[in-house]
Amino acid sequence: MPLFPKVISFDLDGTLIDLDFDLYLWFEELPRIYSEQNSIPLEKAKEYLRLEYNRIGMQRREWYDLCFWIKHHKLGVDPEKVVSDLSHKIAVFPDVLPVLKVLKSEKRRMVVFSNTPKMFLDIKIKVDNLDGFFERAISVYSDYSKIKSYDGVFAQLACELGVEPCEILHVGDSYKLDYLPAIKEGCAALLLDRKLADSKYLADVPPLDKSIRRIASLYEIEKLLAGCD
Ligand SMILES: [Mg+2]
Repeated sequence: MPLFPKVISFDLDGTLIDLDFDLYLWFEELPRIYSEQNSIPLEKAKEYLRLEYNRIGMQRREWYDLCFWIKHHKLGVDPEKVVSDLSHKIAVFPDVLPVLKVLKSEKRRMVVFSNTPKMFLDIKIKVDNLDGFFERAISVYSDYSKIKSYDGVFAQLACELGVEPCEILHVGDSYKLDYLPAIKEGCAALLLDRKLADSKYLADVPPLDKSIRRIASLYEIEKLLAGCD
């Protein structure tokens, strides 16, 4: 499959930004607050919250909404403060800046296309001045009131960018939330499998299907694009 994209669309969490912030927020900080406010052992709180995350599931829009979870668990905390207290944990993967610099120097059109709500996106996109590389940073959750696995989301992106879906290359770390919906709507897609030990909590395990186009780091994008221009 040749790659001649007019726009490269990047997922954010697990693709550009490492998962430390999200793993800590969902699996450490919220259980800690729940444990304190309900006077139950931390391990029990962790187990309960994990069951609830699984019950709602990442295919539902609420999963991504910190305000939803705070209300759901009746936590007396300010979401903005929770996020700002943990913002030092937001970090960009080491391959991101070198690759984005090369792609930018080639005058590639690039966007961020993420399920994360704007309250997270606006903070994450400023780390290491990531925002300077992208013409748009779209929160599918906040800007479209959807998530990427909903029908028509990539078509809407193509329409907004003034290109055909087949002219978009989407790169993301989730099979169900990035690769599959992008392919279904006619985009080209690359599944980024960084083989992170903890990613099972925030991504999905892709099938072993050999037809899935996989990369292990963003450096491979440069090579794929260089091979077809
Ligand atoms: Mg992701």
